[in-house]
Amino acid sequence: MATLTARPANPVDALAQDKRVARALAWLDSNADWVTDQQVAITEIPAPEFHEQERGVFLAKLFRTNGLDVHTDSVGNVIGELAGSRGEEVIVLIAHLDTVFPAGTDVRVKRLKGRLEAPGISDDGAGLASMVGVARAIDQAHLKPQASVLFVAGVGEEGEGNLRGIRALMDEYKGRVRAVIALDGAATDYVTTIGLASRRLDIQVTGPGGHSWSDFGSPNPIAALARGIVQFSTTPVPEEPRTTFNFGVMEGGNSVNSIPAEASVKVDLRSEDDAELLRLESEIRKSFASAVDQEMAAAVPGSESLKLKISVIGIRPGGKLPADSPLLAAIENADRYLGNRSRLERSSTDANLPLSLGIPAIAIGGGGQGGGSHSLEEWYDPAGRELGLKRVLLTLLGVAGVQV
Ligand SMILES: [Zn+2]
Repeated sequence: MATLTARPANPVDALAQDKRVARALAWLDSNADWVTDQQVAITEIPAPEFHEQERGVFLAKLFRTNGLDVHTDSVGNVIGELAGSRGEEVIVLIAHLDTVFPAGTDVRVKRLKGRLEAPGISDDGAGLASMVGVARAIDQAHLKPQASVLFVAGVGEEGEGNLRGIRALMDEYKGRVRAVIALDGAATDYVTTIGLASRRLDIQVTGPGGHSWSDFGSPNPIAALARGIVQFSTTPVPEEPRTTFNFGVMEGGNSVNSIPAEASVKVDLRSEDDAELLRLESEIRKSFASAVDQEMAAAVPGSESLKLKISVIGIRPGGKLPADSPLLAAIENADRYLGNRSRLERSSTDANLPLSLGIPAIAIGGGGQGGGSHSLEEWYDPAGRELGLKRVLLTLLGVAGVQV
């Protein structure tokens, strides 16, 4: 006969019985629409990489009206502090202000049958709004944490921002950060515990340029890059450790009837293993050097040489949350309490930086459903977002503790 063993008690059961915690959970249950309204307002303030300021000012106001002590640091991170009783310790809840969309992109939000559409609505409108929702729930319930909580609307998460927001934050609060929870996008079905390493390169070719007719036969930087891209793209990459590359932006030339004097392409390399990244980078260098040689060999003899310059424009260090981390236990307990199922994931987010420093960090979604991230068709569906909000709150309190 099988013996029944009691399931270990979930610390969240006790936590949720605290009257103020219960009040905060109830607030989230009945104010999801308020959170969605903030998300729309946030998304409609453009925030291209390196131009996050206006959106940051709006977040600062939201933080202030919800009981946080707000300051903006030297790189533009907006930091709202909720002081705790446990000395210097801080827990960071961060979502990113920046989007991948350039200035001039139409960011007005269309509401279609409850579904919201706009560039950036999910990434990271969902994360920012959820963070604000959790701050408001805590304020409404008069909850006081043991560790101080920093609510951070961070800069520079996307693309060439190169994690400068979280880098500056980890530097400012050096030695004090006990855990980082990054809210990135929607969903409740994953927990990112592995930060993928990435390297980003800018590959530039310059040459003499010239007239399309009279200088025909001069070496062409665009053609050289095209040769390099084709050549590198045949490089095999392993499935294990998963390794990827993407040529994401190509620029060059001035007019259709001129041989360009300059062209460039940006490439993103990612891997679960740093060694693979270095291997790919050396393959890139070989492919483009040989592409430039081929283009020169095809040019009229005596042509001025093309010049190749490859610069590293971004390095994201990788890292992994240990399986016995209290932060992982906190989110697993929250999921168990809420009846939510999630899987462990690997990706490249603000969590990479603390993970690379050995600071416990995860990235999770803010709740609801989203898709089309980094495209103009990006969408968000707030149905069921309460679950995500409560999940963030309970995970946060699980690591920060509640003052009795
Ligand atoms: Zn994002």
